[in-house]
Amino acid sequence: MGRNGNRMFCRAEWKQGRLRMRVVANGVRAIAIALGFVAGMPTAASAWGSEGHRLVAEVAQGQLTAAARAEIDRLLALEPGSTLASISTWADEVRSPSTASWHYVNFPRDGACRYEPDRMCLQGSCVVGAIERQTALLASQAPDEERLKALKYVVHFVADVHQPLHAGFADDRGGNGYQLQAYGRGTNLHALWDSGFIRQWPGGAASLQAAVDAATHQTDAGPGARAWAEESCRVVSAEGFYPRGHKLGDDYPPGVRAVLVQQLAIAGSRLAAVLNRSLGKR
Ligand SMILES: [Zn+2]
Repeated sequence: MGRNGNRMFCRAEWKQGRLRMRVVANGVRAIAIALGFVAGMPTAASAWGSEGHRLVAEVAQGQLTAAARAEIDRLLALEPGSTLASISTWADEVRSPSTASWHYVNFPRDGACRYEPDRMCLQGSCVVGAIERQTALLASQAPDEERLKALKYVVHFVADVHQPLHAGFADDRGGNGYQLQAYGRGTNLHALWDSGFIRQWPGGAASLQAAVDAATHQTDAGPGARAWAEESCRVVSAEGFYPRGHKLGDDYPPGVRAVLVQQLAIAGSRLAAVLNRSLGKR
């Protein structure tokens, strides 16, 4: 096993440790409630929260070509009632030790943000490899059930790779290990980017939706998943992305709002471009 293999192993171990911790935490929480207060426990975070995933899927939905939309509707009809937004979190629901590494990629903390599959994505086991593999499957002549599964993965992973900390650094597990006090509770930087900033958006969900809509513009998929991951890595590597100290300053959230909106909007447009290209001509 190379360096990347060891990293993935560490991540898997951590995940198990986290699960164990969560069981213990539930017990502690029960005691806390019994004592008359609720401790602000950080919850395990894995990806854009459901709000982020749904937003990205909805942006994409609005930019589908008629041909892609027809093919997506045909595949979704295998599970009546499902929509692009409703399937967008499926990949987190079925996450297992064997697929956990498909949701992120780790870069060296050297500021270069250069994606090197041989070091960072052994056997395609990272978000870039997963996007490339599942997109090819979606565009293929595979049975519809398999292609629907591929669609669910593509919708999820294209969003994940745009959550900057899904292309961060192994040493703090993409910000999961960077503990912070924010909004009056203990949390970590990854969880804030997954869902904390979204849930604390000034003016609420409608206001965020409007900001994302305003930032949305049609684009092509560009050079694809490798470049998207490198872009996210550059966001994480930028000065000031990691808040100074472990308390979120009042100046941090306003500074990141534009980046958050941009990432959600561009993820949706690129997802549409991928789907249009994969499904447009069948
Ligand atoms: Zn994910």
